[in-house]
Amino acid sequence: MTATISDGRALAADLRARAAAAVRRLGETHRLVPGIAVVLVGHDPASEVYVRSKTRQVVESGMRSFDHRLPETATEAELLDLVARLNADPAVHGILVQLPLPAQVDTAKVIAAVDPAKDVDGFHPLNVGRLAIGLPVLVPCTPLACVMLAKTVRPSLEGLDAVVIGRSNIVGRPLVHLLVAESATVTVAHSKTRDLPALCRDKDLLFAAIGRPELVKGDWIKPGATVIDVGINRIVEPDGSARIVGDVDFAQARAVAGAITPVPGGVGPMTIACLLVNTLRAACAANGLPAPAL
Ligand code: NDP
Repeated sequence: MTATISDGRALAADLRARAAAAVRRLGETHRLVPGIAVVLVGHDPASEVYVRSKTRQVVESGMRSFDHRLPETATEAELLDLVARLNADPAVHGILVQLPLPAQVDTAKVIAAVDPAKDVDGFHPLNVGRLAIGLPVLVPCTPLACVMLAKTVRPSLEGLDAVVIGRSNIVGRPLVHLLVAESATVTVAHSKTRDLPALCRDKDLLFAAIGRPELVKGDWIKPGATVIDVGINRIVEPDGSARIVGDVDFAQARAVAGAITPVPGGVGPMTIACLLVNTLRAACAANGLPAPAL
């Protein structure tokens, strides 16, 4: 079997186009322009690339982007002060504080300072709790992207056996809640899991959010399974050239799986598209409007 490759770039382009159309409609009907503030502290190269890409896509969708750059030496008080100003700004519907933050800043404190209604990353403890008990919420973008990608292959996840490898607050844990809400039967694996290959082998859905290059091998995968690879790992070859790989050995997995997301070009582009969707939803909610149909 050769797996279908789920083209995250094409799916993301389609979702962005639908979001842009909804933004246009909001402008026409309510004179409302959704706005997102992106806060970047320091000069982490990966974060800079990611923020540039986010900003470009926000602007292309017709939304407003407010970029705030703080030096690596910024204090926690300065960051909290900026978040408070963004919370109070009616033109800002979404706030994204790019992680990681420098060591002198308490990340949990900053996340908790963001107005939950503007928390387009879905990281605020209130939103985490709402997700866990199945209430409507701004859902973290990467897990949302994972579920949307899986559903392009299997429109209903009900009753399917899923394994989520990774239990981070950003990806693994929220993904578990989303899958449970879809009525999948979910197993969570992590670094202390015994016999991970055996655990994966009978699962219809495999989500890898580990941060270990090509850890998941072809013989871990059930024939025909849907494989969603969240990992972004930079590999430097002996000749000094670099390439990005996922957490799944793509060549091996492709020969066994029914469908697989590539890295790059899978979950990554969909994650940013989901950020646009969350910003749009936050802007509608802030103005007493129903969530837009996308
Ligand atoms: P974290 O490092 O926060 O979490 C990694 C998880 O993987 C942990 O739960 C850890 O277990 C588990 N793990 C580590 N090693 C193993 C192992 N050998 N076997 C089983 N489980 C293991 O990473 P993130 O969740 O933040 O990110 C995961 C990956 O996804 C990274 O490559 C990251 O770059 C990528 N990513 C991609 C995004 C996108 O948009 N495409 C967005 C966010 C992340 P334990 O808890 O026991 O330590």
